[in-house]
Parts: sequence; C-alpha cells; structure tokens
Amino acid sequence: MIPVEEARERILSRMSALGPERVELPRALHRVLSEDIVAARDIPPWPNSSMDGYALRAADTEAASGPAPARLTLGGRVAAGAIAERPLRPGEAFRIFTGAPLPEGADSVIPQEEVREEGPALRVPRPVRSGEFVRPRGEDMRAGDIVLQRGQALGAAELGLLATLERAQVSVVKRPQVGILSTGDEIVDLGGVPGPGQIPNSNTYSLMGQVAEAGALPVNLGVARDRLEDIETRLGWGLGCDALISSAGVSVGEHDFVKAALARLGAEQHLWLVDMRPGKPIAFATIPAGLKGALPVFALPGNPVSAMVTFELFVRPALLRMAGHARLDRPMITARAQADIPNPGRRRGYLRVTLTPEPDGYGARLTGDQGSGILRSMVAADGLAVVPGDTTIEAGGQVRVILLRAA
Ligand code: AMP
Ligand code: MG
Repeated sequence: MIPVEEARERILSRMSALGPERVELPRALHRVLSEDIVAARDIPPWPNSSMDGYALRAADTEAASGPAPARLTLGGRVAAGAIAERPLRPGEAFRIFTGAPLPEGADSVIPQEEVREEGPALRVPRPVRSGEFVRPRGEDMRAGDIVLQRGQALGAAELGLLATLERAQVSVVKRPQVGILSTGDEIVDLGGVPGPGQIPNSNTYSLMGQVAEAGALPVNLGVARDRLEDIETRLGWGLGCDALISSAGVSVGEHDFVKAALARLGAEQHLWLVDMRPGKPIAFATIPAGLKGALPVFALPGNPVSAMVTFELFVRPALLRMAGHARLDRPMITARAQADIPNPGRRRGYLRVTLTPEPDGYGARLTGDQGSGILRSMVAADGLAVVPGDTTIEAGGQVRVILLRAA
C-alpha cells in the first residue's frame, strides 16, 4: 500500500496547467489568472477628495480656532467627473465633492459639516492638517506594481481591481473537462427502475458535483456494465476530455475490469492501493492520447463515501493544478475532539466530522457511523479528521481536520 503523500506526489507530478483563454471580465469569477497583472498607471491617478467639503491650503488655517476662524475666499467649485478651472490661490477655498480631483495648489479638504459659508467667504474654525480627507495619487496601486499574480484565483475583489485597471477581458486558464464513468452491473441510472439486487447510481452525481465545485466541467459518460468491452468503449468516449474518473470495479474481484480496460486503452498505471480508510482501492493511470499527450485517469473505489473522499484527496488537487491554481490544498485546522474519535485498523483514517465553534477554536465530533456506504456521513461532514492507524483521539485531545466547507 502506498502512503497518501506519495500517491499525491505521483499524481501531481504528472499534472500541468492547461492553456489560456480570454474571457469577459464578469465571466472570470473563480477562474485562475494565466498572466501577471501589472498596473499601467497610478490608482487613483490624481489626489482626490474623500468628502463633500472644501479644498484648501492647510497653511492658511494654521492659526484658526472657534473664536477666531480662518476666513478664506470661495474661489471655485469642482464636482466629481470634472477638474478645477484654475489652480487654487493662497487664501482661497474651492467647493469640492467626493471623488473630485483636488485643485492644483490645494493640499487638504475640510468636510462641509465643519464650516460655514458667509457670502463669498468660508469660516474654518480649526487648523486643517495637510493631506486631511485627501486620497493621494497611487494610494491603491502604483504604475508598474504587479497587483495580481498568475495562478491566483479571481474573487469579487479581484474582479473589481481588474475593472479599475480597465481590463474588460482577462486571460485565464482553461477549465478541465472531466469525463465521469460509473461501473457496475447493479447500478441503475436516474430514470431507470432498480430491479432486485440493483441500486441507484449515486457516484456519478456526487462526482459531477465535486468536479463542478472544483471549477472543472463534468461530462457524464453514463454507467458501464461489469464488462471489459463496455468499460473500454465508454472510457473511449471520454478520450477528448482533459481527465477521466471512473468509480467501482477497481478491486480484485472477478467482476473488476476497470484496470484491464485501461490496459487495453494503452494506459500506464502509476499507482494502485493507497494506505487510507475509506478508499484503499484507487488506481491512477495515464493514457497516451493524441495531441494532449497523457490523459490522466482516476479509477476510484465504488463505495460512495470512498469515491468522494478519494476525489477530495487526489482528484481535486489534480484538477486545481490543471486549472492553473497555485494553491491546491484545502485549509487544515486543529480542533478539539468533543468525544473519542477512534480509528481502528492499520490504515490512516479520513473520518467525517462536524465542527462547532468553541471559545478558543473548533470542536470536532464524528458524524456517526463511518461506513463507506453511509452517504449521510458526507452530507453532515464539515471536515475530514486525519487520524493515524490503530489510534484513538481521546475526548479533549487535538485532531487535525481538513476543512471541506466553512464551518
Ligand atoms: P466495487 O468497487 O465495484 O466493489 O463497489 C463497491 C460498492 O460500491 C458496492 O456496494 C457497489 O454497489 C457500490 N457502488 C458502485 N458504484 C456505485 C454507484 N455508481 N453508485 C452507488 N453505489 C455504487
Ligand atoms: Mg462492482
């Protein structure tokens, strides 16, 4: 059995980012930059007012006080979207509005609530500091700054920043198309009626969801019978994808044909059987496929929880790397076991836990029975507790947890 870390290494070392494509900015959410973004100019490009008020020279208010206010001459007006008609002269104030460029000669702004207009004069009742209520040129970005880096995922703030830089389009990494095949004589797809001994296909749908949650594009290759030819044919339909995932039929039973089908497609197998629970029987192979070179294939176990957990540990980071992400791993936290978390058996456990906030962190508790067919353990799981083989984390002890979602 191969340790999880080595299995990941064998997989990730064979993954690389797909090529770039240009997309309209609003469609770039959650995509990954394929270029560094350099600010072409200072942002903001000129000093501007952060308040509705009056632009002035701080030096003209040095001696001002409530009883003896500075009296400045109202000399102009500048609204957002305009620029001052002329520079401000000593002893003057210009009416100014939020976002308007500071007139040349002014160095500060006093908010309108603090002052009084008296005919052509403005009474300023206190000394104003130079720079007060002014957003200086370049306070956000300076021309030449690398403000976003290749490999960075684009969230809402990044889209705003790109818009500020007038990027109507942006170059992002293509999203991997991922073919998903379920296998098994007992598996009946949605729309069919399971007969005696048959069960509904759930893996295709949980895996399609996981693929989409990872930002990739799922392609449903249906359900193959436990027959070499059927598996080979359906995997063949997916040869144009960027990655393939199968579930079930990858153990050592007489009806397990996935590895044989992969061999028929010329696949080179890089890994089989990983030291983990759930999920030991997982294989990873590459098929030499046309222009794309090597097509990665993940043959996941059939048990619904095993399929999902092995996806988490191996397929998700691989798809993220293909999609250009620099960060491949979920966040990990240390939580306090609220009750015993036993991991009987030699294999390392990835146990489903719920997390609850505690005064100084999080408490973790098993979701319940950990059978690899209990899909509700995945529904309830906020995270996967990583527990060494033959170990019980006792109540009150610390346990490492991979966060599956914000708890
Ligand atoms: P196998 O890996 O073929 O031995 O399958 C392990 C278990 O997973 C069996 O109980 C299967 O019935 C179940 N299983 C396999 N494929 C699916 C699927 N697509 N949906 C739900 N359960 C499945
Ligand atoms: Mg089977």
